[in-house]
Amino acid sequence: MNYVEIVEKIRQADAILIGASNGFSISEGLHIFADNDAFEEVFGDFKRTYGIRNILMGCFAKWPSQESRWAFLSRLINHYSIDYTGSQNTEALKAIIGEKSYFFITSNAENHFELAGFAPDRIWEIEGSWKEIQCERGCHDTLYPLFPLIPEMASAEQNMKVPSELVPRCPKCGGPMAVHSPQQHPVAGDMEMQQRFQRFIQEYHGKRLVILELGIGWRNQLIKAPLMRLAAQEPNAVYITLNKGEIYIPDQIAAKSYGLDGDMTEMLGQLRQAIQEITTNNAGN
Ligand SMILES: [Zn+2]
Repeated sequence: MNYVEIVEKIRQADAILIGASNGFSISEGLHIFADNDAFEEVFGDFKRTYGIRNILMGCFAKWPSQESRWAFLSRLINHYSIDYTGSQNTEALKAIIGEKSYFFITSNAENHFELAGFAPDRIWEIEGSWKEIQCERGCHDTLYPLFPLIPEMASAEQNMKVPSELVPRCPKCGGPMAVHSPQQHPVAGDMEMQQRFQRFIQEYHGKRLVILELGIGWRNQLIKAPLMRLAAQEPNAVYITLNKGEIYIPDQIAAKSYGLDGDMTEMLGQLRQAIQEITTNNAGN
């Protein structure tokens, strides 16, 4: 495998743009589409009572009440985000990025990059984030922190319901609150992150930009297609894609691209090791 060559490109880069999607979450044990053992263990009662077969289905279910809806959501977020402080894979990313300028664009909503210690103003969660809620009716534009509300809801949950007094309500209209989702109601915060992303792209226009794509399916139009277009437009960009069985690199950018096919954790670990070896050798010279 051409790890040494890839690592040289990363070391020479002026900045790293990381695109991450479902495949990265799966590598950290969060599979939003799967009816697997982990789903059974955490949500078996919801599955049998409401026919919810995976996390995604639960996020968009028509719940009989806000109390049930927030029982599902608080259990979900409590389990996957509240105690999360990083993984082997986010540690590998820190080593790979090093001191370089970076930006994340991700469709993952569990907020793991921020929780692992990356800067929130450099992470655009384009499909929203579990860290915040907004008025579901869209009566106003404010995002409110959700994580502080989760532990109490999750611990007070009984029989797949949270107590009514813990259900979040819109402070302006009194209506239900929803987990931050730009697809439902885009708010000013979404526009701001999009602008930060644009500024990052402009800042490194013409420079050595490494685009590192983690676990994005080949059909993905939301992140993958724009990143491939960017790679094509930028004369000095390098495009590196890590995926399992789904490496797709169009001819147009083949000359500046690297595809690594395999287990995400193993591949990030290899990159991390290769970078550390080169850094140590250089320090010794
Ligand atoms: Zn409202």
